[in-house]
Amino acid sequence: MPQTYDTIVIGAGIAGCCTAFMLQKKGQKVLLVDRSATAATGGSGAAGAFVSPKIGKGSPLQTLTNEAFHFAKDFYLKHFPDHFHQTGVIRIPKDLEDADKFEIYEMHNDSKYHWVEKSELEDLGIYNAEKSFLFEEAGVCDAPEMCAGILEQVSFKQFDIKELEHNGTNWILLNAARLTLNAQNIVLSTGYQNDLFDMRYMGVKGTWGSRGDYSSDLDLKVSIHKSISVSANVHGIIKIGATHVKSKEACMTCDGEPLKGLFETASQMVDSSDFVLKETFCGMRAGSKDYFPLAGKVIDVPFMLQTYPAIVRGAKPPVKHMANLFICNGVGGRGFVFAPLMAEWLSEMIVENKEIDKRVDPDRLFLKWCRKL
Ligand SMILES: Cc1cc2nc3c(=O)[nH]c(=O)nc-3n(C[C@H](O)[C@H](O)[C@H](O)COP(=O)(O)OP(=O)(O)OC[C@H]3O[C@@H](n4cnc5c(N)ncnc54)[C@H](O)[C@@H]3O)c2cc1C
Repeated sequence: MPQTYDTIVIGAGIAGCCTAFMLQKKGQKVLLVDRSATAATGGSGAAGAFVSPKIGKGSPLQTLTNEAFHFAKDFYLKHFPDHFHQTGVIRIPKDLEDADKFEIYEMHNDSKYHWVEKSELEDLGIYNAEKSFLFEEAGVCDAPEMCAGILEQVSFKQFDIKELEHNGTNWILLNAARLTLNAQNIVLSTGYQNDLFDMRYMGVKGTWGSRGDYSSDLDLKVSIHKSISVSANVHGIIKIGATHVKSKEACMTCDGEPLKGLFETASQMVDSSDFVLKETFCGMRAGSKDYFPLAGKVIDVPFMLQTYPAIVRGAKPPVKHMANLFICNGVGGRGFVFAPLMAEWLSEMIVENKEIDKRVDPDRLFLKWCRKL
């Protein structure tokens, strides 16, 4: 008889890795699976993996992001300090108009920061920049190494899930060879490929991006973000990256052009004269319809549509969830910021039966989606 896990987490990106880690810490027998043999082959491997606060005029998404930022940096420092570099992150206004807005943004900064004047930026080797914020506690993760580090702490199996069936007690996971795994609970952390069930209401979409790792002797001590991200020099490597292209395809034709554009932008920010491209990465990050993460239960969409046809005309029946099926996804352009807190909240829901924070509960998107059918 195959063993039955308490929870199988599908997808070994940063969301799945953190979820498996938190569940195991709470005493569960957990298995993390991915179609690849190693962690972080999806969007997580390509990430510049900045862990920094969100600036802005104080929106609910900013509040949540900053809550997640505080949690994430403490989590990485405590458990995986070798793969998180607290370099500080400088947020540079995009242009003069944006620079004016920073005065308003300031009152909504709730993590340690200070202003950095143009002249100080130049002393740090950063050019063409207006007065900026330096968030001292922010930093960057080594993205694949961070996921691999978490993976070392949990049981992992390479397994490409093609189908999931519920036998009334447990979930049976099947691959193409019809081999099976069993678990009481499933957590879906499959990134932009969110199609194992009908979860259209969550509106998960991929945004494509690329990153280049350059070797350099440039003494860049702080990471910077303007319209793109340029990391501090960590062990002789500076990472340049951005994700902006909405795409359905995992791999767009990558002829070096996107990276060329990023390199040109970076060259206006720092002295890139000795940069030598060592490695390129590209991938998709998965965002939800309203840009908030998705952590919680999954609604039984076929049941709801068949049982309550009036739902498409505005009826509000009670929702029915799939048995023991959960999701941790939609972490968007801030996967390394959101994943630890989403994983913590989801594991509290699964193990301690706590209610999930309404801001990230996927249920929030369902009725509105039905009315648009
Ligand atoms: C260029 C770039 C720069 C970025 N920069 C930052 C940044 O600075 N800071 C930040 O916080 N975030 C950044 N991000 C975003 C971040 O990378 C993503 O939010 C994060 O990686 C999403 O992680 P995930 O675990 O949800 O998905 P993924 O990393 O995509 O993982 C999903 C996993 O699920 C697996 N999978 C899917 N379906 C199946 C199946 N049926 N069976 C088995 N396995 C399956 C896939 O193989 C994959 O490994 C960046 C992203 C990119 C692309």
